[in-house]
Amino acid sequence: MTPESSSSSARALREAIAAGTLSAEEACRAALDRIDRGNGTLHAFQSVEPERALARARALDATGAAARGPLHGVPIAIKDNINLAGTITTAGSRMLEHYRPPFDATVVTRLEAAGAVIVGKTVCDEFAMGSSTENCAFGPARNPWATDRTPGGSSGGSAVAVAAGMVPLSLGSDTGGSIRQPAAFCGIVGLKPTYGRVSRYGLIAFASSLDQIGPFAGSVDDAALMLEVISGADAQDATSARIDVPRFSASTTGAIDISGARIGVPWTLLDRGVDADVRRAFDESVRTLERLGAVVSAVELPHSAYAIPTYYLVATAEASSNLARYDGVRYGFRAPDAASLDAMYDRTREAGFGAEVKRRIMLGTYVLSAGYYDAYYLKAQQVRTLIRRDFTEAFEHVDAVAVPTTPTAAFKLGEHTADPLQMYLADIFTVSAPLAGLPAVSVPCGVTSERLPIGLQLTGRPWEEATILRLAAAYEAATSWHKERATAFTRARSS
Ligand code: GLN
Repeated sequence: MTPESSSSSARALREAIAAGTLSAEEACRAALDRIDRGNGTLHAFQSVEPERALARARALDATGAAARGPLHGVPIAIKDNINLAGTITTAGSRMLEHYRPPFDATVVTRLEAAGAVIVGKTVCDEFAMGSSTENCAFGPARNPWATDRTPGGSSGGSAVAVAAGMVPLSLGSDTGGSIRQPAAFCGIVGLKPTYGRVSRYGLIAFASSLDQIGPFAGSVDDAALMLEVISGADAQDATSARIDVPRFSASTTGAIDISGARIGVPWTLLDRGVDADVRRAFDESVRTLERLGAVVSAVELPHSAYAIPTYYLVATAEASSNLARYDGVRYGFRAPDAASLDAMYDRTREAGFGAEVKRRIMLGTYVLSAGYYDAYYLKAQQVRTLIRRDFTEAFEHVDAVAVPTTPTAAFKLGEHTADPLQMYLADIFTVSAPLAGLPAVSVPCGVTSERLPIGLQLTGRPWEEATILRLAAAYEAATSWHKERATAFTRARSS
């Protein structure tokens, strides 16, 4: 394998390193070069850590074959809301512009123990609040398929890093769609695990009952490989579940037979607001799954019609509580020259947070306040239970639920910034899975007439990531959408 082709697949890369045709250091240098060439245009990376990465790669090259982990020598990127000890972790916020966490996130510890080489931190919306990376205090990332468009958010930079071929794998976090939506917008695979599957220790909290960390990859198999490494109970996170971690990649390799698998489609949810090209691609993907032997039937998820308001009440309430810790005393930024403690709090939060984060803190504080709690927060919790119950009932008849990941393909940068409601509506198909705690994967399923990628989302029962990975892998093997590349960016670079 040549260093240049080392962005192709994590599995192929690991095998090339094991066979001795490529060293971890060469793979790392090649990734750093690709980032160097692409980041000026795409702004996928908030920060790059070349010395740290090369030192680790060299150390890996010096270890014996017996000590090699499943991601030995594979360069990866992580979202900038995941702690990497000693390196700046901004979460896209001025508030944490100079913050260096004193400890690693558990996912970092696990990835490094498996031999992965972290090359840098990727651009995200401030505190992961957003669907486009335009809420990042340090500027948005750009979609490699069309650089005037968003890569999606909030984990947009991580999606770009994989879609532009800088690294084969990256980590994002998903609260209401922040892995699946950018995966769909960038033509790659993204998976949100079951709530509790992956430790949140060291993830900067947004909405703690929804947040999960998960993989971005160029293929379903690579996503499974990464998920295998990061999953499992962690004493540092009481919400991480003590439940066995299957070998997910056993579901994504070899001959995959999905005949008899039962897939439900909530057709009535798709009646309004879905772009015609997206709808065509989705309908075609359902026919492909049928051709592969899956049995497709209609399911009803009536309360998912209320998923957006429910999500934006629950998530903002939890965010208002989580973000109370940024008071200028304990973390990061402190506004100078305040005459009193109260003035210091006010000025710190005024200057440290961006407009969307302030909007959410105010909304969340409002829905939790006496007199409004029952009407908004409690009501949202009740609807959340109904959304979850709809899925439980559907899963008595089907093994997975299929919808388009997003109602449209990637929108233009600036298109929705003036209208937060339009931005929130981009999450219509992604917020239900986290509200119900369920695993969901987005896999490429087409391109629009403007050559923008489209994603198919498969949601599964709790702890059944293997089921949706198997379906996604069978779909991927039968189609070639995942092989389509982000040509706009490549063309611009070579001309
Ligand atoms: N776009 C959603 C929001 O703005 C989801 C974000 C996420 O999953 N972190 O809240």
